[in-house]
Amino acid sequence: NYFTGSESLVHELLENHHFQLVEHDVTVPYKTTSVIDEIYNLACPASPIHYQYDPIKTIKTSILGAINMLELAEVHNARILQASTSEVYGDPFVHPQPEYYWGNVNTIGLRSCYDEGKRASETLFMDYHRQKELKIKIIRIFNTYGPNMTVNDGRVVSNFIVQALKNEDITVYGSGHQTRSFQYVDDLVEGMTRMMATEDSFTGPVNLGNPNEFTMIELAEQIIRLTDSHSEIVFCPLPSDDPKQRKPDITLAQEKLDGWIPSVPLEEGLKRTIQYFQSL
Ligand code: UDP
Repeated sequence: NYFTGSESLVHELLENHHFQLVEHDVTVPYKTTSVIDEIYNLACPASPIHYQYDPIKTIKTSILGAINMLELAEVHNARILQASTSEVYGDPFVHPQPEYYWGNVNTIGLRSCYDEGKRASETLFMDYHRQKELKIKIIRIFNTYGPNMTVNDGRVVSNFIVQALKNEDITVYGSGHQTRSFQYVDDLVEGMTRMMATEDSFTGPVNLGNPNEFTMIELAEQIIRLTDSHSEIVFCPLPSDDPKQRKPDITLAQEKLDGWIPSVPLEEGLKRTIQYFQSL
C-alpha cells in the first residue's frame, strides 16, 4: 500500500527485471494461477511511529497476513519465509539475545501490536509446518538501515542523518545510553536469501543482525562527525517500553548459513546511507 514505501522506487528498482507487480492487501486471501516457488512475507511497517499509527491494521497485517500467505504457500507447495524481528525479545533480560531466549514483551503496551503480531506469526508458521508440513523459514531481523529509506521513516539512523545534514538538533530519546546493533541492508538480503536456500529441515528462527552494539549517543556523535554537521544533541522523552539493550547472538546463522557474517561495518554503511540522503 506504499504506506512506508514508494511506488516510483519499486518501479525504479525492478525495471527491466522480469516481474509483475500485483496490488493486493495481505490481510485478504490471495489466489493466483501463477506458479509460485518461494514467498518472502515482508509485509508490515517496522518503524515504531508507523506501526503505532494504525495498531489494529498492524496486528492484522502480521496475523491475517501470515495466515493468508501460509495458505497460499500450501496451495502452491511453495517455500515461505517470514520476516520476524528482534522485537520478539522485547526488553530483553538476556544479552546478547540467542534464538532460544523467549523474550520479555509487554502484551498490552504501545509496541505490542508489532511485537505480539510478529510473535503470533512465528507461532502460525511453526504450526503450519508441524501440522501441514509446510516448508517454512523464520528470520528475526535486528535494526536494519541503508539507502532508500524514506526521509520520514522515523527510525533512528535516518532521523539522525536527516537532522545532521540540515544542521538541525539531533533528537536523542531518553538518556541515549540505550543500545542497538545496526545491520546494513545488503547483509540482511544476503542472509535472507541464504536462509531461503537452506535444507527443508531447517526452519529457524534464526537471528540476522550485526552484533556491533552502540549507544544512541555514540550513533549521534558518529553521524555528526561523518556529515561534518553543526548539529547539537538534544534529549527528548523516551517512548514507552523502549528496549534498553539489543544485540544479536549470530552463532546459529553462522553455522547454518554457510558462515554468513555481516560484512559492512557501521561507519561504511552510514557513509553510503548519508550519500543517499545527500543525493535527494
Ligand atoms: N531514537 C532516538 N531518536 C530518534 C529515533 C529513535 O533516540 O529520533 C531511539 C529510540 O528511542 C530507540 C533507538 O533509537 O532507543 C532505536 O529506535 P528505532 O525507532 O530506530 O528502532 P527500535 O529499535 O526502537 O524499533
